[in-house]
Amino acid sequence: MPDIRPTVGSGVLVLNATYEPLCVVSVRRAAILVLSAKAVCVADGDGFLHSVRHELPVPSVVRLTRYVRVPFRATVGLSRRAIFARDSWRCAYCKGPAETIDHVFPRSRGGRHAWENVVAACARCNHSKGDKTPAELGWRLHTKPAAPKGVAWRVLGHRAPDPRWASWLDLPAEAAEAAA
Ligand SMILES: [Zn+2]
Repeated sequence: MPDIRPTVGSGVLVLNATYEPLCVVSVRRAAILVLSAKAVCVADGDGFLHSVRHELPVPSVVRLTRYVRVPFRATVGLSRRAIFARDSWRCAYCKGPAETIDHVFPRSRGGRHAWENVVAACARCNHSKGDKTPAELGWRLHTKPAAPKGVAWRVLGHRAPDPRWASWLDLPAEAAEAAA
C-alpha cells in the first residue's frame, strides 16, 4: 500500500478509456488504479507519492486502461450546495449575496421541491416574498431555474474544478480561472 499523504481536498479526475470524464476520486484511489495498471496517469498534479518500491507523481488526471460502461444519472441531485453553485451564490431576485433557498412557487401553496422551482435568494428577498409568487409581487427572476446540465456538472456536481481538468470537462476559461 503506497504511503499517500495528499493535500487536503485534492481529487483526481478519472477518464474512461475513450477520454470521456467519469468521476473524481481521491488521490489514494487513483494511485491504486495506476499501480495496479487499471489506469494510466495523463496529467500530473503536485509532488510525488512514495511506496516501498515505487515513486509516482501525484496524478491530477488518470485514464482507465479498459473501457467501462457507466450509467449516468439523468439529473444532478438537488441539494442546498448544488443550488447555490448553480445560481453562483447570487439572489435570483436582486443579485445580492444569497444565503437562503426560495421556492419560486411557494411550497405552502403546493410548489414542488425541484430544480425548476428552487432558487438561491438573499434573506431579505426571501422574507419579503413570503408565500407569494414573483408575479404577484411584480418581481422578475434573472434566469429561469432549471436542472444544471453538461459534463462538468455530471462529473463534478458542486465541486470546484481543478483548472488542470478544464480541457477534459469543456469548462469555460473563466470557470477554470475562478477555481485557480
Ligand atoms: Zn435578494
